[in-house]
Amino acid sequence: MGHHHHHVDSSTGKIKVAFFLNLGFTIIEIIGGLLTNSMAILSDALHDLGDSLSLGLAWFLQKFSNKDHSTDFSFGYRRFSLLAALINSVVLIVGSVFILTEAIPRLMNPEQPNTIGMIILSVLGILVNGAAVFRLRGGDSMNQKVMTWHLLEDVLGWVAVLIVSIIMTFTDLPILDPIASIGITLFILYNVIVNFVKTMRLFLEGVPKNIDLEDLIEKMNAVEAIKSTHHTHLWSMDGDHHAFSTHVVVGSSATKEEICDVKDSIKDIISSIHLDHVTIEVEYEDKPCSITEPKNE
Ligand SMILES: [Zn+2]
Ligand SMILES: [Zn+2]
Ligand SMILES: [Zn+2]
Repeated sequence: MGHHHHHVDSSTGKIKVAFFLNLGFTIIEIIGGLLTNSMAILSDALHDLGDSLSLGLAWFLQKFSNKDHSTDFSFGYRRFSLLAALINSVVLIVGSVFILTEAIPRLMNPEQPNTIGMIILSVLGILVNGAAVFRLRGGDSMNQKVMTWHLLEDVLGWVAVLIVSIIMTFTDLPILDPIASIGITLFILYNVIVNFVKTMRLFLEGVPKNIDLEDLIEKMNAVEAIKSTHHTHLWSMDGDHHAFSTHVVVGSSATKEEICDVKDSIKDIISSIHLDHVTIEVEYEDKPCSITEPKNE
């Protein structure tokens, strides 16, 4: 349970490449969207502009989150990438609302876009976003998961634009352009909100969803030498690296050996969880807790 183990982390370099790919492609998209008069492409361009900003921010913040502990940030810098994920979500929610206000009026007044230009841009979009997903895959931080899923959605969005532009090439249905734009945006908005809720749960120090704290407490109380437990807390730094603290009460005449056994038993109980910080306070039955009354928990 040491504080100094490290994952081999190449995610910063991956985010950097994704950032420059995305930024370059955004410029091509804006020009292409204006030239083809396609709402679907133009809204994707605005969307990718938001992506580029978020990626740049994530790249910058992840440099900090990989640093070790300091006396300024005693838990380390993992939560900096959580902050990046939160800003990411906010930028994308604002961007999606903007896209909708642009695309909805086009439903009443559709304009025929240049569908051949749209086909070329969608194929390019699939290639660029596909390459970014390929580079980011395998990351395990909350921030990287948000981005990998997001880029995957972008690929699917471009596939949808490709299909729509092929249909519009052979039919007179210009309304498909704003419909595709709105559909893609609503899908992205839904996923962003789901991720936003997850990020907020981490900020609010909720118990990670895959961990049953009640079960852990029951197991601790089942250890013979443990009379009771209180102030048991389990929270997460970034969705993958967790922290745990608890107070355990032992008999008033517990020996050093018994106390060491109690600690070993607790470490066994929590061994399956990826914990970076573990604090176990041992208290004697006849010595009241020095922090607060258990009922105030
Ligand atoms: Zn995107
Ligand atoms: Zn610690
Ligand atoms: Zn206590």
